[in-house]
Amino acid sequence: MDDSRTSPASPSAMRVVDVQVPVAVDQAYSYRVPRGLELKPGDVVGVPLGPREVLGVVWAENPNPDPRLHNRLKDVSEKLDVPPLREELRRMVDWVATYTLSPRGQVLRMTLRMGEHLGPERQRMGVRLVGSPPQRMTPARRRLLEILSDGLLHSKSDVAKEAGVSPGVIDGLVDEGTLSVEAMPREPAAPIPDPDFSPADFSPDQAKAAETMRELVQAGGGFRAALLDGVTGSGKTEVYFEAVAEVIRQGRQTLILMPEIALTGQFLDRFALRFGVRPLEWHSELTPRTRARNWAAIAAGEARVVVGARSALFLPYGDLGLIIVDEEHDQAYKQEDGAHYHARDMAVVRASIAKIPIVLASATPSVETEVNARKGRYQRIPLPSRFGGQHMPQIEAIDLRRAPPARGRFISPVLAEQIGHAIEKREQALLFLNRRGYAPLTLCRACGHRFACTICDAWLVDHRFRQRLVCHHCGFSMPRPHQCPHCGAEESLVAIGPGVERLQEEAASLFPNARTMVLSSDLITSIETMRSELNEIAEGRVDIIIGTQLVAKGHNFPRLNLVGVVDADLGLSNGDPRAAERTFQLLNQVIGRAGREQGRGVGFLQTHQPEHPVMKALVACDREAFYASEIDIRERTLYPPFGRLASLIISAGDRPTAEGFARKLAGCAPVDERVQVLGPAEAPLAVIKGRYRFRLLVKSVRSFDLSNYLRSWLALGPKTKGNLKLEVDVDPQSFL
Ligand SMILES: [Zn+2]
Ligand SMILES: [Zn+2]
Repeated sequence: MDDSRTSPASPSAMRVVDVQVPVAVDQAYSYRVPRGLELKPGDVVGVPLGPREVLGVVWAENPNPDPRLHNRLKDVSEKLDVPPLREELRRMVDWVATYTLSPRGQVLRMTLRMGEHLGPERQRMGVRLVGSPPQRMTPARRRLLEILSDGLLHSKSDVAKEAGVSPGVIDGLVDEGTLSVEAMPREPAAPIPDPDFSPADFSPDQAKAAETMRELVQAGGGFRAALLDGVTGSGKTEVYFEAVAEVIRQGRQTLILMPEIALTGQFLDRFALRFGVRPLEWHSELTPRTRARNWAAIAAGEARVVVGARSALFLPYGDLGLIIVDEEHDQAYKQEDGAHYHARDMAVVRASIAKIPIVLASATPSVETEVNARKGRYQRIPLPSRFGGQHMPQIEAIDLRRAPPARGRFISPVLAEQIGHAIEKREQALLFLNRRGYAPLTLCRACGHRFACTICDAWLVDHRFRQRLVCHHCGFSMPRPHQCPHCGAEESLVAIGPGVERLQEEAASLFPNARTMVLSSDLITSIETMRSELNEIAEGRVDIIIGTQLVAKGHNFPRLNLVGVVDADLGLSNGDPRAAERTFQLLNQVIGRAGREQGRGVGFLQTHQPEHPVMKALVACDREAFYASEIDIRERTLYPPFGRLASLIISAGDRPTAEGFARKLAGCAPVDERVQVLGPAEAPLAVIKGRYRFRLLVKSVRSFDLSNYLRSWLALGPKTKGNLKLEVDVDPQSFL
């Protein structure tokens, strides 16, 4: 029965719904519901918005629409044939928008990324051998018929490729009645993983952790947060797979968040070994067609396990039962354009709203997560040793003050000697330097001129592979000139400092017979090339890998036994309150790449400050000491997680406008003894893309509703107009 027919026919009694559209507005708009259309909150609808037709989500019924407005409202155009957004997801969108001060429509947009083509899929056609052989036989026809002799339905394009024939050859045989054309059955977007396909063989430590994992998801639902705390190589992945297996048995969905989807090639293989099929992937390089299929499979609950980058958190899972955040400490979880959010923290929010368990996995947890585990808010599930009882790499500091590299070189003789031994033993070595390009600075020997970006406050980085000087902040680039633009001297330019490309040059001159490879994000053209280069290394076709932080994440190189950190001090000097934590995590992770198979890993830290607490903790393999000192500092200075931070970044095309606005805004900050407003100060990167930037840092006690404070402040403050831009970053990770 159609209920709407029974309602009174007067126009004022017609229904009105509030529809949230995925554009940068907070407000839902009212639309009339045409007679005969059944709508409820969560339904995905098409609505007119100005001259356009857009997708939107029914956010609420509007029970008392103003009758005077009624005739001015537009109608909902259509209801889409997709599952409605569940209440838990709508609540999460509201929550994230409120917390991060982002327009609700902007957050909603992340849930509706289903691609453009929701229309019916192109039907794939297949061919089958049905009649007698043709009168005229050719080699091409023979090859084709041989493959089809099984009498099964084969995809037309696949069989043409396999036989090496053109589609015309197939069409000819269809005309003669030898073959028939039939529609292929639709392939499922996501085959169901088999929880019992190939159970892992666990060590006693792992078995215990795996049991706790199963208990976590068996507990009959409810929100629970756990920290799976295991050193690199301890088999964290296989252990959390046990929780995944349990959730598959329950018929529910698991989301596995990864910091960097390009690096998950090996992970997908490990998953397939354990469960028989690959999980569904969600990332930015999906084709529109695959994106639409995957989105639909996720919304329908058919995709049981989804692996994705941070944006996968906002998808409309039909029945989410578990979230895993792998490498939870990774900085890549923080999104810094559009809605500024931290995917790990928002994943905890989603799990809590959906009342499901969440597992955060890391060898070097963020200080926030470590404190939550220490206070018992998160259950700690420890994995104390490496798989198979192997040892963590032995770490040594190389004091660059005592054993400096030769002039213009960056590898200390001590490290070079060790690399030489590794290569003799046919083992791999990794040189780690978190700097892309050839050299971070180019200057003129004759006049001292330094090459800087024309629109940012940054030096241009020499990229020899591309033969250009490049700005890492805006992408501006220029060819490396032969003449100094300042004094006109010829061939006077010198490269200052090392980047990975320059290190490769040095490694090649030190070890002329070694095969070297640079792994750096700017040299990677696609997820596929990235995965194939990583495979080449894993197969041992490279002797010395030279890499940026890309190599620190997620990949297993069985022959890698030596890691040399070329500049261990690099991340410590940037004035960032998280510098020590980041450096500790990054170096721990990168050195942990060594010796994972044979257990004879060694790590070398080239440093000017071996007495720094981070270096000492790394060398002593004393994680506890690091956390103890770092937690103590945060507690004393009221930095997160003992206090809260937000930053406001004001930018404009000229300096006085940006500074004037920042001062006016600071002047309007409501006075509250629990809050401190610092600044405005010129941002450390004072100019990016020609925009002058000022920064206000807001610090409060932990138990304070900082988002609400910011909202009332911004309502009082001056309004941005013209070229002025104000970005709000609650819980900032970057301080540049
Ligand atoms: Zn010059
Ligand atoms: Zn620039």
